[in-house]
Amino acid sequence: MRSKILFEKPTWLGFFSPVDFFGVVYDLKPVSRTGISENDKGSVKKLAKGWGLECEVKRIKIYETKESMLLAYISKSRQDIEKAARAEANANRIDVGDLFGYPPCCTSFFIKTLSEKNPCSKQGGKYDYNLIERIFQNSKKLNFLLNSTYNFSSKGDYALIGNDENFIRISTYNLFFIPHQPCSFDCKESLKFGRKMQHILSKQIPAFCKSAEHFLKKPIIVWNDHEFCTFEGHKEGDSIRYSSIIGELSIDFSGFKGILSKGNSIIAKEDSLRVYSGKKFVGEIEKGLLLQFS
Ligand SMILES: [Zn+2]
Repeated sequence: MRSKILFEKPTWLGFFSPVDFFGVVYDLKPVSRTGISENDKGSVKKLAKGWGLECEVKRIKIYETKESMLLAYISKSRQDIEKAARAEANANRIDVGDLFGYPPCCTSFFIKTLSEKNPCSKQGGKYDYNLIERIFQNSKKLNFLLNSTYNFSSKGDYALIGNDENFIRISTYNLFFIPHQPCSFDCKESLKFGRKMQHILSKQIPAFCKSAEHFLKKPIIVWNDHEFCTFEGHKEGDSIRYSSIIGELSIDFSGFKGILSKGNSIIAKEDSLRVYSGKKFVGEIEKGLLLQFS
């Protein structure tokens, strides 16, 4: 049942997330781009042409990556594509933010956080990145339209995480309503984008939109950007009551699933998370953030 909803993803969009694709179609963002392979060149150009968009495929080195990548850019303006590709090649993140339609507050927050190197609170974390925690610290409310847990864009070295099956799997779901990492989970500018996008997707691809709305509101424990667990259940204060783990939306490098699968509630203590089955104590796992977006 669960998987059936999850996989109602519009396959015809192929390379682009719905947010990136329709963002350009509906003028919410000037440019979008995605990584492709040589074999995809024809179909990505055909897709863009069908929707009256410009498309350029470029092999370039972006940011600090060592290897060049084959990237497909879409826009209504060929000039903006050239500007965006140049900004990415030069790692000019302010221009990148402008051209990809990210609110300036979120772009500056991201640049600032990046310069602080996001020390990961989890010892020995596999990919060591902690943007979600920083965004959370900056938030008063958690709006599901800005839930970026399942969007790995800008979360560490793509050459590293891009080869991990967990990220490949979750990336294909495209479960997000904004294309960027927000400065807070209640950022006003991002919410404007999110609400417009929700409206567009509810018209264009209603099954996907429903699925995204449904799963972005599920409770999560986040240890870092690359290790988290999503539940069927509810968060109440410092605890989560759950009936099951949503495995498709969880990444477990440290073996927490073993203990969690034996329980049905988690209580956050000062230094750890305690797992119970009814009243029976099942075990203790490393402290993480308990979140539920609404
Ligand atoms: Zn913002």
